Order: sequence, then structure tokens, then C-alpha cells
Amino acid sequence: MVAILAGGTGGAKLARGMLDVVGPEELCVVANTADDIEVYGVHVSPDPDLVALWLADLIDERGYGVRGDTWEVMTALADAGHETWFRLGDRDLALCLVRTELLRAGRRLTEAHAAVLEALGTRARVLPMSDEPVRTHVRAGGRTWPFQEFMIVAGAGAGPPVEEVELRGIARAAPSTEVLEAIARAEAIVIGPSNPVISIGPILNVPGMRHAIANAAAPTVAVSPFVGGRAVKGPTEAFCAQAGIAATAQGVAEAYAGVIDGVVADEPVSGVAALEIDTLMDTPEARGRVAGATLEFARSLSGG
Ligand code: GDP
Repeated sequence: MVAILAGGTGGAKLARGMLDVVGPEELCVVANTADDIEVYGVHVSPDPDLVALWLADLIDERGYGVRGDTWEVMTALADAGHETWFRLGDRDLALCLVRTELLRAGRRLTEAHAAVLEALGTRARVLPMSDEPVRTHVRAGGRTWPFQEFMIVAGAGAGPPVEEVELRGIARAAPSTEVLEAIARAEAIVIGPSNPVISIGPILNVPGMRHAIANAAAPTVAVSPFVGGRAVKGPTEAFCAQAGIAATAQGVAEAYAGVIDGVVADEPVSGVAALEIDTLMDTPEARGRVAGATLEFARSLSGG
């Protein structure tokens, strides 16, 4: 079994490639939930849902949400004078309702998200990093923003420079038993090419997560999110700058020191085992190729 730590797009594309390589029964994604938000009366899990939609081949071309979704609810809410800065398509909202009903009935986030995967017909597992709430807040331009407001309302990396990232609730969070079991049983643990600060940072900082990875029999490898020297999308550079991480594969490898045994990137990296390949995953073939090469590389590090 392969365990992939993922945020949104980068990790999701690698997970989709890995699905072709190992099949749904052998894939388990541990997804960041520090971007989660309660809005319109539902619990939205952007990163776990993005991964699930990629695995179900239902991701829309705009990069998030359900392919071909409609926006009747948003239109009606706007007509009613309601704020709609967080855009949620009708089918997306239905998936969030599936999750929220179960949460209201007292089920854990892990169980509630499993119902979303089932609704999408996805057999691979996507596990929230923790059942406890963790919420990223970003200080920028002298005020503190809940993560989604920073991304959408404040204009993310294009807005005021990031001054601080705060992971509210992280000290009280723990990896679920499902996450711990997946990490312990994995043949390879892969840190996807997601934002090291706001996507992978929360996962690794859940108390007990680093210990679980360090104690796992499997080798851990990271895929760099930098392609041709830059982030493919999103404010990765802005967050790395604030965290003191160089926006290079070398910087990423150093940020994961003590966690990873190797790194996959399209540029040379020193001080850790490295596989240099083209890591752009813009087609199904490229996603399968990068996933397959990453798994082979991890196997070569396992010493057996
Ligand atoms: P977000 O929540 O959608 O921003 O998700 P992530 O944290 O997963 O993704 C952002 C990162 O994914 C960016 O740093 C991108 O450079 C990286 N990324 C997106 N597509 C690719 C790709 O095809 N290859 C690699 N190596 N990284 C990618």
C-alpha cells in the first residue's frame, strides 16, 4: 500500500497517477484539513474533496469543484442578499451535505468523508489528517485572516505579504487510527508536491504524525512542487518565503529534513537521495509516469 500526504492540486495529481500504478485498494491519501471551512451551514473540506474528485475523474477544468457543476444555490443566495465569496457549486454542496449530516449525527470527520468518497464511487481511501478541527489563519497586512478568506478575499500571494501562519487547534489534534494504520502498513510514504507550508505543514505538525512516519518501516520520499524553478499554481512561493524555505527542490528537501529519505525533483538536490525526472503532471500519462518513478525510487531506498 502507498500512503500519500497531500494538500490540493499537486498532491491530488500525484494521487491520481498512483491510482493507475497501484490500484484503488493499495492507495491511501492523508489529506490536509486545516483549510476546512464551515459555510452555508455545511462543513467544506477543500483538500480532501479535491483529492477525491481527482481520484473519481470528476474534477472540473477550473481546478476545483465538480466537473460541469451548476451554481443555482449561489445565484439564489446572492439574490437573497447573502454573501457568496466562497463559491460552492450545487453538486459540491450536495457532497458537503452528505458529510455534514453525518457529522451532526456524531460521526467522525474520517467517517463522514468516507461517505463522500462512496457517493463519488471512489474505492481508494482519502483520510482527513485528523478528526479534530485544525484551522489555518494567516496574518498579512496587519490583520489575521481565516485561511479561505485570505486566499479568496485578500487575494492570497498577490495580496499583502504573509507575516505569520497560525495552525489553530493543532496542539489538540491527533492522527486518526486509520491514518496511523495506513502509515504503519505502507510500503512507501510519499509527500506529494503540495504547498510545504499550508498543505503539508499542518499534516506533519499534527502531534504524533512525525513520530508515526519516523517509526514506519516504509521509506518516505517527497516530490518537489517546483517545476522549472517555480510553483505550477497558487501562492507556494509567498508562504515559503515567510517560512524561510527557499523556493527550490533543495529548500523543500531541507524543510522535510528528518522526515524524508529521498526527494524527487526536476533539478539537482544534494544531501539526500534524489531522483531527477520531469515532474510536470499535465496529462494522465505524465501523472502515471511521475507516480510510477516515485514508487520505484522509494522501493530502491527501502533496502530490500
Ligand atoms: P492547492 O490547495 O490546490 O493550492 O494545493 P497544493 O498545496 O497541493 O498545491 C499547490 C502546489 O502544487 C504548487 O506548489 C504547485 O507547484 C504544485 N503542483 C501543481 N501541479 C503540479 C505538477 O504537475 N507537478 C508538480 N511537481 N507540482 C505541481
